[in-house]
Amino acid sequence: MKKRRVSIFGATGSIGQNTIDLISRDPDAYDVMALTGSSNIAQLAADARSLGAQIAVTADERLLPDLRAALDGSGVEAAAGEAALLEAADRPADWIMSAIVGAAGLAPGFQALRHGTTLALANKESLVTAGPLLLQEARAHSARILPVDSEHSAVFQGLVGEDMAAVERIIITASGGGLRDWPVEALASATPEDAGAHPNWDMGQRITIDSASMFNKAMELIETKEFFGVAPSQIQTVIHPQSIVHALVGFNDGALMAHLGAPDMRHAIGYALHYPDRKTLPVERIDLAHLAKLEFYAPCDTRYPALKIARAVMETGGHAGCVFNAAKEVALDGFLAGRIGFMDMSGVVEATLDAISSKIGLSNAVETLEDVLQTDQMARKTAWTMIEQHAEKA
Ligand code: NDP
Repeated sequence: MKKRRVSIFGATGSIGQNTIDLISRDPDAYDVMALTGSSNIAQLAADARSLGAQIAVTADERLLPDLRAALDGSGVEAAAGEAALLEAADRPADWIMSAIVGAAGLAPGFQALRHGTTLALANKESLVTAGPLLLQEARAHSARILPVDSEHSAVFQGLVGEDMAAVERIIITASGGGLRDWPVEALASATPEDAGAHPNWDMGQRITIDSASMFNKAMELIETKEFFGVAPSQIQTVIHPQSIVHALVGFNDGALMAHLGAPDMRHAIGYALHYPDRKTLPVERIDLAHLAKLEFYAPCDTRYPALKIARAVMETGGHAGCVFNAAKEVALDGFLAGRIGFMDMSGVVEATLDAISSKIGLSNAVETLEDVLQTDQMARKTAWTMIEQHAEKA
C-alpha cells in the first residue's frame, strides 16, 4: 500500500501530540515529511526521530543549535524561523495538520493550500481572521480543508450527503467552562487558576480560560459562519455540561441530527485523517445508559458577553474577526498578568473593536494575508492601550 505523506504544524502542542498518537499507531501507513514546534525542542526532536521525519522546524531561530544537537546522527534535517516553516509547507504532502496556535498558524496553512494538499484545520485563527480568503485560496488550488475543531467536525459529519439548502440551523454546544456554576456577581473576582480548570476537556491553560469566558465558543461561532457559509441567524449555541453532543444540524423537515462522542480530540483528528473513510479510533465508547442524562440550556449574555460580541462580529464581517481575535488574545494576556479582571476582558475586546472601527472601518473585505497581519498588529496595540487605560482607572 502506498504510504500517505503527512506533515504536522504545531506537532508539540496538544492537537499535534494527539495527531502523533494516531499516526504512531500505524507507522507503516505514513511517511512523515515535516514536524514543527517552537519552544519544546526535546519533544520535537524525540517525535521527529521516532517517526523518521524528513525535517523538524522550530519557529524560534534562537533554538536552532539546540534542535541540531538534539537531532544529531538521526538523519532528520533541522531548520528554524518563519521562512523555514513556509519551506516545510512547500514539501509535498497528502495531508497537513494545521495546529500552530495563534496568528502564526496562518501563513503555513495558506502556503500548504497553494500546493493543493488536504489541510486538516485546527488553527481557529485562520478562519476567524481570514475565513473568506482561506476558502478562496483552497478553491483556487483545488485543495481541501477539513475541520478539526470538534464542533465543526461534528457539523461536517452531520452534513455528509446533505443539501446545504435544506439546512435551517446549526447548533454548537458549549460546556460552559470551569466557572459555569459560579454566581454571576462572583465572576469579576475569578483568578486565572479558577478559570483554568475545565470540567470535561483536558486542554492548555489559555484555551481553558477561553472556555470559561466563552471567547472560545465565540471564535467557534465565527468559524461556523465562515466555514459552512450560513447566516449568523442560523447559528446557535447551547450549554451542554456533559460535552457528549458536540453539535447538531437542523433541517427544513424538522429533523435534528446530533453528533455524539467522548470529549477526546482524537475523534475529530482521526475523522480528518481518514476522511472520507472511517477507521477504528482509540477513543472511549459512549454508554448512554451509564450517562443517564444529557442536559441542554441557553447561555446567558450577562455571564458570557463574548457571545454577544461574536454575533456583532459575524454581522460586520470584513476585518472584525481579525480585530476580535487579536483583542481577545491581548485581553487574556492582561488577565493572566493581573492587569484586568475576568469580566473586564470583554470590555477590552469591545473597546478595541470600536476604536479600530472608527480608525479604519471594519466591514471592508480582507484582500490579502498581509492585510490580516497588519490589522492584527494594530488591534493588539490598541487592546494593550485599552488595558493600560483600564488599569490606570482601577
Ligand atoms: P498548544 O498551545 O498546545 O500548541 C501550539 C503549538 O504551536 C505548539 O506546537 C507550539 O510549539 C506551536 N507554536 C507556538 N507558538 C508558535 C509560533 N509563534 N510559531 C510557530 N509555532 C508556534 O495549542 P493546541 O494544540 O491546544 O491548539 C492548536 C490550535 O488548535 C489552536 O488554534 C487552538 O485554538 C486549536 N484547537 C485546539 C483544541 C484543543 O483541544 N487543544 C481544540 C480545537 C482547536 P511549542 O509547544 O514547541 O512551543
